Amino acid sequence: MSTKIRKVAVIGSGTMGHGIAEVTALAGYEVVMVDVAQDLLNKALERIKWSLDKLAERGGTISKEKVSEVMGRIKTSLSVTEAVKDIDLMIEAVPENIDLKKKIFSEADANAPSHAILATNTSSLPITEIASATKRPERVVGIHFFNPPVLMPPLVEVIKGAQTNDEVAKRAYDFVKSLGKEPIMVNKDVPGFVVNRILVALNSAACLLVTNNVYSIVEIDSAVKYRAGLPMGIFELQDFTGVDVGYLVGFAVAVRDPMLRVPCPLIEELYKKGWLGQKSGRGFYEYKGGPYERANIPREAGEKVDLVLIFAPAINMAAWLLREGIASREDIDKGVKMGLGWPKGVLEYADEFGIDKVVEALNQLYSKYNYDLFKPDPLLTQMVQEGRLGQKSGKGFYDYGATGVTEFKEIILKREPPLAWIILNRPHRLNT
Ligand code: NAD
Repeated sequence: MSTKIRKVAVIGSGTMGHGIAEVTALAGYEVVMVDVAQDLLNKALERIKWSLDKLAERGGTISKEKVSEVMGRIKTSLSVTEAVKDIDLMIEAVPENIDLKKKIFSEADANAPSHAILATNTSSLPITEIASATKRPERVVGIHFFNPPVLMPPLVEVIKGAQTNDEVAKRAYDFVKSLGKEPIMVNKDVPGFVVNRILVALNSAACLLVTNNVYSIVEIDSAVKYRAGLPMGIFELQDFTGVDVGYLVGFAVAVRDPMLRVPCPLIEELYKKGWLGQKSGRGFYEYKGGPYERANIPREAGEKVDLVLIFAPAINMAAWLLREGIASREDIDKGVKMGLGWPKGVLEYADEFGIDKVVEALNQLYSKYNYDLFKPDPLLTQMVQEGRLGQKSGKGFYDYGATGVTEFKEIILKREPPLAWIILNRPHRLNT
């Protein structure tokens, strides 16, 4: 059943769909894009053309001739039935509504060739339930792109539903690689998958600390940005992506998973007031200078913040993902580096802080607030018992050798006499 993927149907041509169609056509596949009205499809084609023109202008990422060649590979259709009849892969990107997605999958299943793989780009709905609308649940898989799908961020999560065949997941993984993207494999269909679970853990714990006046918004943002090196503050990022997006994804995953149920009245209040972040001039911060103004976060504001307390819930979530076999150590760290632009993986932060310190911080949060998210994962407590405390003990999630000195991973030195290589390794920044 390993027919080569040649033709791909992308269902929905909105924010994600048109970008997925673009990267897919750029990689040489035939694409058919489906939506409910021709004007929506025309608008999507215009957006793709604009984006390709930009790539051609910007120092020749692609040539001018390639723009028309790529556009020539994208067809449009108003019918799922018609569009899927000779495809090898479908990627669905219609709005986040389970009934709508099931309807599309049922129609695609009835009309696509039996070898075709049916994938969904959902951020928060169960792959297994979407697959249940088909007679081929073993050929249904999650392919979760991040916004925007073209260029950055490079990460794509490939998610197995309860019945997804390993070979199908592997083919989806290889397809993502062929787009020049960086896939990680999510072995179980858990709410929020890997990256959003870690992000929701980080965001909701930070929100709780602000609500309880432990730290202010700007103190936390300053600390994670200037001391931990994240590209944006926790609240600044939510303003950037949209308070509504964060609220709705957080809500959708919390409904399905008690571990993610840490209430954040602060974000709910903003959402209800329509203070949706940069796009509406106000969110956690005010943007008087227009939507492109950056939040004002002074460097010194975060000096007193205990970074371990801020990161511990996200680390606890990562430990849970690892212990449950949902993703590998490398994929969890790759997920936050490639998906969120973190300079280090969440497990690398854990090793740096010290696993004992992480467990202490979690116990402190758990005894005070009593949410499941803060209960130290058995993997972490076991590591402490075994003396695997991270960098300081030479062994944690990673090995650091007898000296406890970490290799500086952004600069890798490789010697094969008479040759030597100095490799500048910053994939999360596309090696800039
Ligand atoms: P969107 O609203 O921008 O686009 C959805 C498109 O689907 C619209 O053009 C709409 O007309 C079309 N559509 C609606 N019903 C349809 C039907 N029956 N047949 C064909 N097309 C139909 O939504 P989006 O932001 O692109 O999100 C799409 C999916 O991607 C969702 O599942 C979302 O969770 C997921 N996702 C979104 C983001 C993001 O940041 N926007 C990131 C990752 C994943």
